Amino acid sequence: MKILITGGAGFIGSHLSKKLLGEGNSVVCVDNLFTGRKENIEPFLKNKNFEFVEHDIINPLEIEGIDQIFNFACPASPPHYQKDPVFTFKTSVLGSLNLLELARKNNARIMQASTSEVYGDPKTHPQPETYWGNVNPIGIRSCYDEGKRAAETLFFDYNRKYGTDIRVIRIFNTYGPNMDPRDGRVVSNFINQALEDQDLTIYGDGSQTRSFQYIDDLVDGIAKMMDNKNNFLGPVNLGNPDEFTVKELAEKILEMLPESKSKIVHKPLPEDDPKQRKPDITLAKKELGWKPKVKIKEGLKKTIEYFKRNGRL
Ligand code: NAD
Ligand code: UDP
Repeated sequence: MKILITGGAGFIGSHLSKKLLGEGNSVVCVDNLFTGRKENIEPFLKNKNFEFVEHDIINPLEIEGIDQIFNFACPASPPHYQKDPVFTFKTSVLGSLNLLELARKNNARIMQASTSEVYGDPKTHPQPETYWGNVNPIGIRSCYDEGKRAAETLFFDYNRKYGTDIRVIRIFNTYGPNMDPRDGRVVSNFINQALEDQDLTIYGDGSQTRSFQYIDDLVDGIAKMMDNKNNFLGPVNLGNPDEFTVKELAEKILEMLPESKSKIVHKPLPEDDPKQRKPDITLAKKELGWKPKVKIKEGLKKTIEYFKRNGRL
């Protein structure tokens, strides 16, 4: 198959490229390198089945003969998506429109990488797909949250109006190798701070929770969702229901790096930071036979190894 991955030079996109190339597909990676890195796709550049196109999905694109599209282009880390919120919103909305048009022209199946952020600061816990969320429409996270919500709307409207073959996944916090050490997300921050003997920066008192999923589990879920034969469109939660406070995460990482001289310090909690987050994965289990397998310690160990070789804050 010929497969287009937008955001292919990013953290998740690069893992997806590796899997799809390994299965003998040809992969076109479209990325504007806003947060993505050439080093993530370096191993594929010599593969004749891999093509890199530097392009911003805010602008329309013409590619022929595409069978599947994975729309993963969008900055995902709060400091990056808040840097230029108008660009972030355009990426989700105009980018999705451009790719949905491309899917229509190519008669291709298209997946949208949506997010647990569509649930905002949830009042239902854990979050099932039927929960409509609690999102501030005018806050500093809204460019990302509302952009992703609007993208979901577009995907389902293209399906209803044009019969476009869509898949929508809601990804919960995911970590692993190929994250940018300077990306600003909590797992990469804490590990790199600990490796460099800098203090671990907990925002707020650290009682807020997240559920952290290792990248291999996510890639497995993505493949199962894209290839499901039951015409199951989603949205479906893909995340690990093991829930931890941010303080527990910091302590775990320091425990795993006993040689580190780092201590824990507290910084102000960013505005609208969700207090809790945990996926209900009943639907993914039922429709896809999927559940995550990698426990946090095992995933963190692999991520620490990666950052020991590649990290630098
Ligand atoms: P990332 O920042 O590593 O990757 C995003 C990629 O998209 C980068 O390579 C970036 O350069 C590219 N990009 C951004 N805007 C673009 C544009 N306008 N045109 C072309 N390319 C553009 O982030 P990631 O963690 O790999 O996230 C990938 C996708 O998954 C994103 O859509 C994100 O919203 C979604 N997601 C990720 C998580 C997570 O925990 N990692 C959680 C929920 C959703
Ligand atoms: N966080 C933190 N210290 C950091 C980075 C993040 O305490 O150095 C917190 C952040 O405030 C949030 C949680 O960790 O409560 C997860 O943050 P991240 O940016 O990784 O993801 P998101 O907030 O989008 O779930």
